[in-house]
Amino acid sequence: MSNNFELKKRYGTCSKDCYGSCVFIGEWNDQAPEKKLLTAKPLKEHPFTSGFFCPKFNNREKLLYHPHRLKTALIRSGSKGFNSFKQISLEKAISLVSEKLTTTKNKFGPSSIVAAYYAGNSSLISHFSPIRFLGKFGATVTTGGICNEAGIHALSKMFGNYSTTNPFQINNPNNKLIVVWGSNLADRNNHAYFLVKKAIKNGSLVVVVNPIRTKLVENTTFFLQPFPGTDYLIAKYIMNKIIVSGEYDKDFLIKHVDNYKDLIAKVERIDENKIFHQTGLTGEILEAFVNILLKFQHKTLFIVGFGPQKYFYGGRNLNTIALIQIFLGNFGKLGTGFLFSQSGFNKEFIAPLMNYITCLKSYSPNISFPLVTLGPSLSSNKFKMLFIYNLNPANSLPNQTILRKSLSREDLFVVVLDMFLNETTKFADIVIPAKFDLECDDLITPYFLPGISINQGGPCPYSNCLSNYEIFQLLAKCNGWGDDILFQETQKEIFEKCVELLPKEVQQSIKLNGYYIPFAINDIPFEDLNFPTINGKIQIKQSDLELFDPKLDFLLCRNQNELYLLSPAHKSFIHSQMGEIHKEFEKDFSKIFLNPSDIELLGLVPGKEVLVTNKFNEAKFLLDQNNALKSGTALIYSGLPFINAVFKNVNYFTPEKPEESEKSGAFYSVIVKISKI
Ligand code: SF4
Repeated sequence: MSNNFELKKRYGTCSKDCYGSCVFIGEWNDQAPEKKLLTAKPLKEHPFTSGFFCPKFNNREKLLYHPHRLKTALIRSGSKGFNSFKQISLEKAISLVSEKLTTTKNKFGPSSIVAAYYAGNSSLISHFSPIRFLGKFGATVTTGGICNEAGIHALSKMFGNYSTTNPFQINNPNNKLIVVWGSNLADRNNHAYFLVKKAIKNGSLVVVVNPIRTKLVENTTFFLQPFPGTDYLIAKYIMNKIIVSGEYDKDFLIKHVDNYKDLIAKVERIDENKIFHQTGLTGEILEAFVNILLKFQHKTLFIVGFGPQKYFYGGRNLNTIALIQIFLGNFGKLGTGFLFSQSGFNKEFIAPLMNYITCLKSYSPNISFPLVTLGPSLSSNKFKMLFIYNLNPANSLPNQTILRKSLSREDLFVVVLDMFLNETTKFADIVIPAKFDLECDDLITPYFLPGISINQGGPCPYSNCLSNYEIFQLLAKCNGWGDDILFQETQKEIFEKCVELLPKEVQQSIKLNGYYIPFAINDIPFEDLNFPTINGKIQIKQSDLELFDPKLDFLLCRNQNELYLLSPAHKSFIHSQMGEIHKEFEKDFSKIFLNPSDIELLGLVPGKEVLVTNKFNEAKFLLDQNNALKSGTALIYSGLPFINAVFKNVNYFTPEKPEESEKSGAFYSVIVKISKI
């Protein structure tokens, strides 16, 4: 069969908020009336993508041309809280938004206009180019996020850079032990899972620490299943035992760690029974963990997930886990280190790109507030207009009661840029249809395997769909800034300029391969153990171990009839995205899962509806059992990626109070009661 069209190949990168940042070759038929992307083939030669996507998104064409994709602009035709809209032309929508911008600015000042955005599309231009407009306009923007930012903040204070380790060390022959702490690799980071499985084949042992029995546990030496949020108590116990044994790395501590003596004093005495009780772990399992850590000192690598920092004191929780590796001197050596987020290695080479994309230097800094406080912040009448892009706050942000009340304000004009109608568009006055990542030239900076890769944008078949940059470019023109050089470039020109701003070797690599990775297999960042802190040493503060605060640590004081509530993402979704292509899992979001022993203890019946309550809300869920859960722990999947679901989003139960740094949310500092209906 002969093709009667010219097949175009373009490099692509999955821009989902995901560890993978999979790089692929997209095959396009640019002449096709609609389905222009034919296939996306994951690169075999990329050392992390390794020729496979995750099951969440191995058929991106289906989502790209899904019949529910928005193709026209919409204006509200009913009350807020419902997706009731009528279609309007793109020109009309832009002109209405522009008029609203002008009247709001004149009446209430530019800072009364807010832009909230996150990583729904994590590409650099998509994410940051609207700042050109918003900065010049003087609007308020959100900062921080809802994911790993608390951990990033805490580790940065400790090491000067939250990224310290080359992920290829997972497969270094010197590695003998991998500790996977608070991370469900099989479901959330399947490319790292693949590397860990390879390490196991090559002789590395694995220990998993997680309140949920993950798939990797099948291949581990042993498994610690603590109560949620008690990681720092485990770390404290381990440090105590390491110190008592005298086998901590004294030389490493003396040369490379500030204030280590204070820390030793802090963990010299512990109440073991209290730790066993509060963590739900036995002395035997903790002892075994200590022994294996000591046995493989200088041969152990930690992979730590984002879960342990989703508590009120999450950043410090994470720091205490890092302290174990510090006490053992497991940094700067082959096969060792601490993997959390490696995007810190990207900063140096993307800094000029960020300056170029945002042009922030031309303007005084925007007024801002933390994204995670969007709900409470918008309850203030001083904000009158809201832009939302790359974000679905009516799913993803905590305390939905407060958030939705704020979004429902009749005097708050809400503009949402998105590909699909969702929970957030229910509060929009205007919806503008957005382009997909693959339809825009852009750059992606991954956070597990560091580096940079590209999307060579293919054509979008829908003329009214725009990229974020293009939308704000049109608004700039309406605002009389058409001649301003800031808004004259096309997105492709910004992309090309960004590529030019990269170091020559990076440019060459992305032109040739579609990606650049700063590390070779054996590279050891900070091999000289000179960290980018004030004196080159790892910074430890006494407060790193002073986590007990009765107000925050209510998790440790729960009553017998209360359960911890975890809300991880479902393995088939990226948070609230992809509901359109994974309908078969909708039922999973109607459920609350409990360990069978808790079901029995509470006298409940699987398959029946139960009432879930806490101080923030109450709602009915179907009860189901899950043996993988630690007894005392309940699970409701986050995201709820289906509109008009009759069951409530788990974020009705999560606190509006953020993690103590206010960089991200305390989504797991939650306790619920479950009762019969
Ligand atoms: S969602 Fe993640 S693992 Fe799946 S294709 Fe995208 S980047 Fe890769």
